[in-house]
Amino acid sequence: MSEQNLTIALSKGRIFDETLPLLAAAGIEPVEDPEQSRKLIIGTNHADIRLVIVRASDVPTYVRYGAADFGIAGRDVLIENGGEGLYQPLDLQIAKCRMMVAVPQGFDYAAASQPGCRLRIATKYPDITAEHFAAKGVHVDIIKLYGSMELAPLVGLSDAIVDLVSTGNTLKANGLEAVEHVVDISSRLVVNKAALKTKHALLEPIIQAFGSAAKAGGAFI
Ligand code: AMP
Repeated sequence: MSEQNLTIALSKGRIFDETLPLLAAAGIEPVEDPEQSRKLIIGTNHADIRLVIVRASDVPTYVRYGAADFGIAGRDVLIENGGEGLYQPLDLQIAKCRMMVAVPQGFDYAAASQPGCRLRIATKYPDITAEHFAAKGVHVDIIKLYGSMELAPLVGLSDAIVDLVSTGNTLKANGLEAVEHVVDISSRLVVNKAALKTKHALLEPIIQAFGSAAKAGGAFI
């Protein structure tokens, strides 16, 4: 590989799937499907461009330390785990969803979330949750979970959850309902600040191609 190579950090699933058309617009095609392969480094049709497949919440870390030159990360991850030290030029308007408070169907959330009340909330997003309820004057005991938040209220671990909702099917299947909007979420391009200078010639056309491909809904920020 030449000295001027590019490493792109992506997570599997929704973000990867919705990034493929953007990569294609920049003339980049992965040679393997990460869903079918156990490889964590995936080549592309360009010898000097590779993808690294990491956990969604690890994307900013790989990019911040320069292990990847750029990546795509959800706004949920960037708010909760910090987007400091990253250049965030573009909201790609992909993997869109809403962060919501959800409770078991029939739970009287309006009464339970009056100022001065106390609620037990299970979430993967303790900082965003704490800020949301502090602004409402509601006391919260936050229980940090790493997945399947929907289970927590069903087994008495919490009164409510704060989680991402897209179609609402997961909540429905578990007898829960969304009762309050916390923040709108979409994915952003995050770029290593040093790479932006040292690899500008390689990076700039890709950022521009992503911007044009995402134009329908994307926005330079
Ligand atoms: P849904 O059933 O379509 O509402 O999707 C809800 C499930 O998918 C929850 O477990 C969420 O944490 C997850 N989810 C929904 N949208 C996203 C997204 N844009 N990024 C990551 N996870 C998501």
